[in-house]
Amino acid sequence: MASPVAAAASGGAAAAAEGNTVYIPISELKELCTKSLSTLGYSTEETAVLLDVLLYAQLRGNNQGIIKITTGGMNRAAAAAPIAVERETRLSALLNGNAQAGMLVLHRAMTMAVEKAKSAGFGIVGTNNTSTSTGALGYYAEQVAQQGLIGIVFAQSPEFVAPHGAKQAIFGTNPIAIGIPAEKGPVVMDMATAAYAWFGLLEAKTAGRPIPGDVALNAQGQPTTDPNEVLSGGAIRVFDRSHKGSNLALMVELLAGPLVGAAVADKLEQRNWGNLLLAVDPELLGDAESIRARTQVVLDRVKGAERLPGVVLDRVKGAERLPGVDEILLPSERGNRVAAQRASSGMVPIEANLYHNLKVMASKADAGSTGKAAATAGASASKMKLETLLLHPAASSVTDPYDASGPPLYQTATFGQPSATEGGQFDYTRSGNPTRTMLEEQWAALEGGCRALAFTSGMASLAVVTKLVSVGGHIVAGDDIYGGTSRLLASVVPAGGVSVSNVDMTDISAVKAGIIPGKTQLVMVESPTNPRMQICDIKAIAAAAHAAGALVCVDNSFLTPLYQRPLDLGADISMTSGTKYVGGHGDTTLGLLAVKDAELGKKLYFLQNAEGAGLAPMDCWLALRGLKTMSLRMERSISNAEKIAEFLAGHPLVRKLNYAGRPQHPGAAVHAAQATSGGAMISFETGDLEASKMIVELTKLYKVTVSFGNVISLISLPCFMSHASIPAEVRAARGLPDDLVRISVGIEDAADLIADLQQAMDTALADKRRREASSSSSSGSASGGVSGSSGANGNGNGAEGAGTAAVLVAAHSREQELVQRIQQLESQLAGLNGQVSKPV
Ligand SMILES: *Cc1c(COP(=O)(O)O)cnc(C)c1O
Repeated sequence: MASPVAAAASGGAAAAAEGNTVYIPISELKELCTKSLSTLGYSTEETAVLLDVLLYAQLRGNNQGIIKITTGGMNRAAAAAPIAVERETRLSALLNGNAQAGMLVLHRAMTMAVEKAKSAGFGIVGTNNTSTSTGALGYYAEQVAQQGLIGIVFAQSPEFVAPHGAKQAIFGTNPIAIGIPAEKGPVVMDMATAAYAWFGLLEAKTAGRPIPGDVALNAQGQPTTDPNEVLSGGAIRVFDRSHKGSNLALMVELLAGPLVGAAVADKLEQRNWGNLLLAVDPELLGDAESIRARTQVVLDRVKGAERLPGVVLDRVKGAERLPGVDEILLPSERGNRVAAQRASSGMVPIEANLYHNLKVMASKADAGSTGKAAATAGASASKMKLETLLLHPAASSVTDPYDASGPPLYQTATFGQPSATEGGQFDYTRSGNPTRTMLEEQWAALEGGCRALAFTSGMASLAVVTKLVSVGGHIVAGDDIYGGTSRLLASVVPAGGVSVSNVDMTDISAVKAGIIPGKTQLVMVESPTNPRMQICDIKAIAAAAHAAGALVCVDNSFLTPLYQRPLDLGADISMTSGTKYVGGHGDTTLGLLAVKDAELGKKLYFLQNAEGAGLAPMDCWLALRGLKTMSLRMERSISNAEKIAEFLAGHPLVRKLNYAGRPQHPGAAVHAAQATSGGAMISFETGDLEASKMIVELTKLYKVTVSFGNVISLISLPCFMSHASIPAEVRAARGLPDDLVRISVGIEDAADLIADLQQAMDTALADKRRREASSSSSSGSASGGVSGSSGANGNGNGAEGAGTAAVLVAAHSREQELVQRIQQLESQLAGLNGQVSKPV
């Protein structure tokens, strides 16, 4: 039953397994098709008929139908005139299609034949002069059978198929469909008399695939697997490669060709194709109800039903299945199941490019309309501000049948496949997950890239970027970079046979000098740098890198595309640690890459999948939620940061202030040219490790933690925390002082944040002055205490400051209180292995 014949007859089903399939709601497909057909000039009534025929095929897993719309197969002939009834009796009619669409003409023939069969018991209608395909004949046979009538349909088409024993094509693919009413619903056969679909040849040609070896001949009459050979003068064979199939094809040709006035030669050029449709009322031959019941008995016997409830016949036996056969399928049974499943899920698969083309075509119908769909569809969305796109992303390739206002969380590892041979859009979450796709698509749009990829962390994404460099290659990176990146480049990348140079990225001549022609494949940039907030000229660096054929990756974690757009500035890859402002709440880690080159995107996707570094669904969901408030959070944090920077600039304990948003910043001009904000990260030096530690410790609203971009404010000593993995000598050489304090400004009230910082800094300042006074009055006290306890990573490199003994000279009670507080802190610190923690 499930023979190659069925496969050939169902046309594109198998072919559709190739390529990228997306699932969309049936309602959306209908809307897109309706709009697209309207652009071809069909009336509303005509469009409804065409859509019905096309969807019948599409829902059954045969995408021959819809593809006709976008590939010109449904175009209205310029010469099209109204369908004319040229002959008519009570039982018959002949229609001149007058170059109208085949589906419209055959539909009209069907309606007439059914009317005749209902009134006179029999209707036969022939059609000629149709200029486009009639679509799946099974549609018409089923429609007739649904009316309780027997439907028989033939179609003739241009020369594609060779008669048995011949090498030239004479026949069309000449399908036959028969629909017969039965008790459990009509049984419908729809088969071509050809061994392979014409559409299948075109698909194989497009995909560069061979066809099976025994379905077609080349121009010399030899079997071939090359579709091009068949298309240039060869022929498809009949379905059974024997005289029987050939005879059947001939009969179809005669019934749907000469009988109805269609072309009998040069059929492709003449565009005069024919159909024959018969509708027969079973009542002509017996009691219709009993015929339906008895028909069902035969069907059940074929299926091998053991017991046949409701059947009065005695001792009917079903067919016994051969070993290894699970089920005997009736004609159309497989397609019916697929259609039923799609109808119940409301979703239908469609090849991704076809979907895209359909959307483009439909959008032409939208032109000028101001409907909701138009407002959020692709092109118009790109004109919107990023702040809006964060909340209203452009239409995703992931469609949600329930139109949920929050993104659906697909917390699953695997996805069922539509069939054993057909792959859906998703199969395994490592390779792809709808929630991740939604995040990646939205991020790509925000970055102005063509593709984005989400990883389990910023470092996972950067690790994948470094994999783009081949063995023997070279990477140029900055000398003031994120600690984790520094570790990756120093301790992981070299083991893979890739060398790394760290250069002063603020100096374009140092960057150029660091690039080794023919060897440097990647330049990694941060700006502002972490933690010293140095500014690097992204455009100039990109130009220098590209001149040497190297890729440029910009770590944009500090600013996100809201405030700095690396891809627009010439970078090939824009990287963002989404752990920071995207997640925004310190509750998830993730990394995002965006690219503007599809090929590069493919390479990165390959690595994401191969290494299994893709972000898990729940974290994608958190990131998607974070995006909704990202601009609000960043705006508030930045405005707070600007005020705090002002305060710090005036505080006597601040020896050097690093904030990219201040005009005094040495990189201010470059920064202003490439970014629209100074961000919410500030760092400063006090010149005194003791004082820096006290500030970090004594603030109450700033959590002592690594990372940044949290809604709450954070404070850290990078040398002991985020950047502790950089050896002390390297830090010293790079000018990264131990006393550097880094603040990530949150969204609290600015005045509260400043007051809190002020009390901590004033206390630290008083302590510093006291220490200075005591060390000048009592020299020789051993180093110990706080500075001695800071050696967590072997980095406690003797900041100035003596012990606590000297402070005992305090006279004032307020001072005594402070001294006690400091002692308390120090003893806590001494036990903490240098990793500072917040006193309660
Ligand atoms: C945090 C950070 C990273 C690493 O991101 P994770 O998500 O922590 O792996 C990379 N670069 C910069 C600038 C960062 O701040």
